[in-house]
Amino acid sequence: MTDRPVRYAILSDIHGNLDSLQRALALIDPQDRILCLGDTVGYGPNPNECIAILRERAEASVLGNHDLAAIDNFGVEYFNEVAKAAMAWTQNVIDAENRQWLNGLSYELRYPDFLMVHGAPKNYFEYILDKRSAARAFEATDAPLVFVGHTHIAEYYALEPDGSISHKHMQHGGELLLEEGRRYVVDVGSVGQPRDLNPLASFVFFEPALRRVEWIRYEYPIGEVQHKMHDAHLPDYLATRLEVGR
Ligand code: ZN
Repeated sequence: MTDRPVRYAILSDIHGNLDSLQRALALIDPQDRILCLGDTVGYGPNPNECIAILRERAEASVLGNHDLAAIDNFGVEYFNEVAKAAMAWTQNVIDAENRQWLNGLSYELRYPDFLMVHGAPKNYFEYILDKRSAARAFEATDAPLVFVGHTHIAEYYALEPDGSISHKHMQHGGELLLEEGRRYVVDVGSVGQPRDLNPLASFVFFEPALRRVEWIRYEYPIGEVQHKMHDAHLPDYLATRLEVGR
């Protein structure tokens, strides 16, 4: 084993999409440290298989709103009809051990250099969708770097030294070199159900020594997943949206 600097692979919103998770793992080195930002279940056809992989491979994971809904029905009244139907299906198939694993996850994890939350710091299930919500996120923590998912949109916000906020989409992948004096909210995008008008799945590599974040957009067999969703009688809409990425 070579002595390589630490590289994290940070995944979010897998949503029971085993085929996409497997493709992501094929791009991840065995030495990489895997972190998960939640919503491992909900929508997709393989929640148990996805949790089993994370239990084996992930160094840490935080709780997403779908994970919480799966274990205690939290917030389901705010779900739309298809999400509700998929959640009822998920609650029914998820096994006791995996439910217990989800139940042991926390809302946030702080590493020395960064914070992991599903949606936003403190308001864990808030969506960071604009500069105003990004500003609230920067105010809610002193972490220089915050990794989030939840929106299923690959992008980042930077708090500039003059207090202004800049923003960039990573719809087609790309890299961010973290600059001294700036703070960042990095949205890693979604492994299981991208929503930034690109059906390619998304995750990031983070190399602390190089101060580098790289968004990876990758193909996975969407047709296979759709087939499984159809067989499971999951809502058609959830299968169709995978091919348009929204
Ligand atoms: Zn999600």
